[in-house]
Amino acid sequence: MPLDKSVLNFYFIAMLFIKRGNLFQLLESLSGDYRVFVPSRKGDSIAFTTFGESEEDYVIGEFRSFEPLKAFYFLGREKVAVDFSPENPRNDKPPCIVGVKSCDLKGLKILDFVFMDEEFGDPTYIKTRTGGLIISADCTKVVETCFCTAMGVNPWPDTEYDINLSETDEGFVVEIGSDKGQKVIDDHTELFQESNKDQIHSKELNRESVKRHIEKNVQKKNIPPVERLKRIVRKNYESDVWSEEAAACVECGACNVICPTCHCFFLYDQRSESSLARYRVWDSCMIKDFARVAGGENPRNRLWMRFRNRFEKKFDYFPVVADEIACTGCGRCIAACPGKIDIRQVLEKLNTPR
Ligand code: SF4
Ligand code: SF4
Repeated sequence: MPLDKSVLNFYFIAMLFIKRGNLFQLLESLSGDYRVFVPSRKGDSIAFTTFGESEEDYVIGEFRSFEPLKAFYFLGREKVAVDFSPENPRNDKPPCIVGVKSCDLKGLKILDFVFMDEEFGDPTYIKTRTGGLIISADCTKVVETCFCTAMGVNPWPDTEYDINLSETDEGFVVEIGSDKGQKVIDDHTELFQESNKDQIHSKELNRESVKRHIEKNVQKKNIPPVERLKRIVRKNYESDVWSEEAAACVECGACNVICPTCHCFFLYDQRSESSLARYRVWDSCMIKDFARVAGGENPRNRLWMRFRNRFEKKFDYFPVVADEIACTGCGRCIAACPGKIDIRQVLEKLNTPR
């Protein structure tokens, strides 16, 4: 039955429902105003693809994508100036990113803190972030590396989304998180209906079951309680754990690049016949020259110091300056590390008396 428009006046109370086919009609319509990206299955992984470009196996629920959400707002390589004049923010359509998971939304809080600063904000980031649309989704599966609950994150979005989808057998329970999300629903009421008790029950059951599963992962790994992490990292400043764990590191920087909260970059200039362009590229604090200064000195010239610095930033520095832990428990760094370094194990070792 099509949606009674009066329901929309109570959108924070009444939940809506959209059938799977209708969701794809909605995305088709949104493609007029946005570049729409949807997670698709790629072997054992899930990665974002442009909606409608080919016949993809779209995966709205399940677990987080291979690539971090930051890649949409803060490109891996971007031209930021030409001949010493700032490059205007990109003029392409803003992104509509579908199926975003809770851990990545939490990561946006750190990026917003860094790039939406009133004085030193990044115009391209601000334009993309404020112009874009986020249609997030509950996790319906857990992989071994997930530990979001240990970082205080639920496996379903409760903030930062415009619309959230909770997958059920027939479609998705819909929650609206912003005026922008509300407008999308208002403009497409024919695609939505009121959700019924069974659908809402199914959503709640899934949330409970996924959370329980992640908590088992967390227990198995003995991850210390989130409220103690800052103290544990500080207390262990001189610990041998840093050098022991860093011994397996090959300094590739994958842990930084894949992390939804890491945001460091460097600038380089490239000359062509007619102009000089300045590019911004993702950087990694694990690389030896990251902290080297012009005179040649390097305050973190040993690998274990850089390894320790990564943990200090995530669990001490950002909680102090931004009131946020800069780890979302997404587990991407564990999956990406060729040295098989597991952030959970490092935290456990730091918390084990020697
Ligand atoms: S440190 Fe690792 S687990 Fe934490 S947010 Fe970054 S990639 Fe995810
Ligand atoms: S991904 Fe692993 S090997 Fe590569 S820099 Fe990070 S900790 Fe070192």
